[in-house]
Amino acid sequence: MISGGCQPRRILELDRVDAAGPFAGGPRAGDDGRVDDEVVRLARPRPGHFDLGTGYHGDVWLDLDALFLRPAALQPYVQVLADRLRGHQPDAVCGPLEGGAFLAQAIAAELGAAFLPAARGPGPQPGTATSYLLPRVPGGISGWRVAIADDAVNAGTAVRACAALLRGRGAVPVAVAALIFLGPASAAVAQDIAVPFYAVGALHSQAWPAGQCPLCAAGLPRASPG
Ligand SMILES: [Zn+2]
Repeated sequence: MISGGCQPRRILELDRVDAAGPFAGGPRAGDDGRVDDEVVRLARPRPGHFDLGTGYHGDVWLDLDALFLRPAALQPYVQVLADRLRGHQPDAVCGPLEGGAFLAQAIAAELGAAFLPAARGPGPQPGTATSYLLPRVPGGISGWRVAIADDAVNAGTAVRACAALLRGRGAVPVAVAALIFLGPASAAVAQDIAVPFYAVGALHSQAWPAGQCPLCAAGLPRASPG
């Protein structure tokens, strides 16, 4: 039963973890060693061998449509991420479509900030990363402080693409926020983008570039995400 009544526990702060990520000693959050499992359950994680559609293969599939089915259930998480991002004084929140943009819009509304949806670019080839496009903004976004939000961050291809697009427009990425952190693949995202990374829930999974996937090498058939 989904309810809007659960309150997130401590938030993960991934800018302070070492290269092994928060899974080096098991998932942990803040300083009490616990993470929020409920937000992960909302995404109905399924183990297997999947083409993540980002140029990577992984061993967990998340039903991100289910995650956004009942926005009221996500509101406590939106609130806690917005509270954490407020300290970075973002002018805008950017999120890749689809789920990342849903989260970004909700956080932007909480903060009174602008919303920058990153639309999928034309014609990604199977097995390669999706490209993204930012909307035109009157007067441009040069000098804007922008937080990047995504529903789930695994290898981080979408948030890395958003950071590069924003910097290309002269904006300044100030933080990344996610509902679910999939480690250890995403442990390097904060270091690569060089901003703090906040997540509400965490799930251990592995992801590999499609051409280096050990599950493919072992001959495991890929499961259908549907
Ligand atoms: Zn594979």
